[in-house]
Amino acid sequence: MTKRNRNGLPRVVVVGGGFAGLNAVKSLAKVKPPVRVILLEQHNYHLFQPLLYQLATGVVQPADIAHPVRGIVRRYRRASVRMATVSGVDLDAREVLTEEGARFHYDYLILAAGATTATFGIPGVEEHSFPLKSMPDALRLRAHLLRQFELADNDPAQVDKGALTVVVGGGGPTGVEMAGALHELFKHVLVHDFPDLDINHAKVVLLEAMDHLLAPFHPSSRQHALDILRKRGVEVRLGQALERATAGEVVLKDGTVIPTRTLVWGAGVRANPLADVLGLEQTRGGRIVVGEDLSVPGRPEVFVVGDLAGAGDGKGGLLPQVAQPAIQEARHAAQNIERTLKGEPRTGFTYKDKGIMATIGRNAAVTELPSGARFKGVLAWYMWLALHLAYIIGFRSRVAVLVNWIWSYLTYDRHARIIVAVEQQRRPALAPSAAKPAVAAPAPAEAATDRPVVG
Ligand SMILES: Cc1cc2nc3c(=O)[nH]c(=O)nc-3n(C[C@H](O)[C@H](O)[C@H](O)COP(=O)(O)OP(=O)(O)OC[C@H]3O[C@@H](n4cnc5c(N)ncnc54)[C@H](O)[C@@H]3O)c2cc1C
Repeated sequence: MTKRNRNGLPRVVVVGGGFAGLNAVKSLAKVKPPVRVILLEQHNYHLFQPLLYQLATGVVQPADIAHPVRGIVRRYRRASVRMATVSGVDLDAREVLTEEGARFHYDYLILAAGATTATFGIPGVEEHSFPLKSMPDALRLRAHLLRQFELADNDPAQVDKGALTVVVGGGGPTGVEMAGALHELFKHVLVHDFPDLDINHAKVVLLEAMDHLLAPFHPSSRQHALDILRKRGVEVRLGQALERATAGEVVLKDGTVIPTRTLVWGAGVRANPLADVLGLEQTRGGRIVVGEDLSVPGRPEVFVVGDLAGAGDGKGGLLPQVAQPAIQEARHAAQNIERTLKGEPRTGFTYKDKGIMATIGRNAAVTELPSGARFKGVLAWYMWLALHLAYIIGFRSRVAVLVNWIWSYLTYDRHARIIVAVEQQRRPALAPSAAKPAVAAPAPAEAATDRPVVG
């Protein structure tokens, strides 16, 4: 029998306020019969990750791409938020445990804690690279980059030691957009800020282990991205894998040594470590195995959605860890809770592909629609801009981002090139689930999955 909370309503706990978690809350607010929803989010904001690279390169400010999560959830009746870091789940007692020591009972649970960066165990990457997954990651990278230019300006001998060389690991959309944006920052902005530095010494190297960029795209889109980046001056090295990284250099598998203090890591993604401590079956990349209805096998009251979920793509593979599957899965899980409450059978999830896109830099992007239509260049870039703008939460943030984009486009300026000290983030220490022992070894990571259209 379903336990009821104080209002007599079934209680749904949602873990994570990203694309998936917020869409789950929104859909659950419309469920009939009504449910009480509690969102547990470790930060007090929802982060729009697709624009993190613009935060790192000074185009936008933190508040432009982060929205207070309470300001979003208060719009929905019977929904509330707790700022809490979930450390485990007692599946038998139906309780979510937090690092702060609280326990939240649920009738239904939706796990939407997202993913983290995977380093594939490459020596030195964990310690010396700059991931791009969180707001502190982006701010730390921004401060570090600008500091390297200041150091080189004070002591030009630093240039030969790699102060002005950035190596970007991974030629998926994150790597491509990051490489393009860094190059624009160096050649159009910092060149004027540092007139005494020979900016020709500043270089961006994009490393990709495969022989092409943008793996999920059509070969003509991949070639377009490669041509644009090379034409603009990014050194693209295809078929070159990283052997190890230190604080002062990266070493490639073929023995090449590149002096650098900045390795930006966009090559791998892995499920949030929360997945490793629940004692549930995991896929490659650590994602939690779910059935067609998106619930965990044997635990029909527990749903997993978004980057954390190992939802099938219907062709024997897994759906990519990008925004659209997260949004659609969250809505579907909420609908299945509603069906269950009504005594109706659940339905299987089917992903509606909306296409893929990646930006390469100013006036350059690639977009592919499910119909087979492909766009590149300025038109694809406008499509990318419009879509990302539409998906930013909050009118003020949308206007702020648009103003920043127009300003940057017209003036080449990056007004947010500010050095703010940010402490390095530590991975959360998670307690094993009270119901099940911790899983001994996390599942191996996946190469960065690449991006469908956000909207
Ligand atoms: C740099 C970058 C660029 C990207 N660009 C694109 C793009 O252009 N298009 C696209 O479609 N996708 C893009 N993606 C991928 C997309 O952002 C993700 O697929 C999407 O955010 C997944 O949604 P989610 O809700 O599953 O996870 P997330 O959005 O990551 O949300 C997870 C939430 O859970 C919270 N959380 C985590 N652990 C805990 C815990 N223990 N307790 C409480 N809360 C917790 C986190 O704080 C976070 O708010 C990009 C990702 C990155 C990193």
